[in-house]
Amino acid sequence: MTTLNSEGMFVSPSIRHRRFHTIEHGKLDAIKAIVLHQTDSSTAEATFNAYQSGSNGAHFLIDTDGRIYQTASAHKRCYHVGRLIKSRCLEIKPFSCADAELAKAKALRWAARVKEIDKIERTKKYPDRFPVNSDSLGIELVGRHINDTTYEAVSSTQSSSLRWLLNLLYQTFTIGSDDTFRHPQVSYKNPGEAASAKW
Ligand SMILES: [Zn+2]
Repeated sequence: MTTLNSEGMFVSPSIRHRRFHTIEHGKLDAIKAIVLHQTDSSTAEATFNAYQSGSNGAHFLIDTDGRIYQTASAHKRCYHVGRLIKSRCLEIKPFSCADAELAKAKALRWAARVKEIDKIERTKKYPDRFPVNSDSLGIELVGRHINDTTYEAVSSTQSSSLRWLLNLLYQTFTIGSDDTFRHPQVSYKNPGEAASAKW
């Protein structure tokens, strides 16, 4: 039996609590989606050390041995998506996205374009846009960043823990696998991040 307590922490023999208030930033009122990440570290402890002094992080972390940690309350917002989101319309329908404002933005140079696209997207509501920090939970999988396009492969034990955790979150927040995204789908990240995660 797994329950969500009043603090936003899951109570389950399969989830360990390592909560870091340093990575919690205000209330998270609605959970509509999940974003999968990789830590770019080889151990969970390295990420926990970074959480202690940093401000970016995610709600859960899955270690290489499949152990699941909850690192932030599900009632609190974490900075895990990044500042600028991509356009869901343009990513899904690159040739038929009928948004005149986006069409104009596409003509801009890279830096101006990504800012303008983010501005346009933030006026929309999920699922018309990708998830943002204020409506999503983040899950980190421990794994190193190898080069421009690759991260360490997600292990099969990590994948089975991920599936278990996702099912719990789907049931708790009435969402589904269509609401689960890899970080680089949503914002401008190394394309290999969480690429080998299966769910
Ligand atoms: Zn990430």
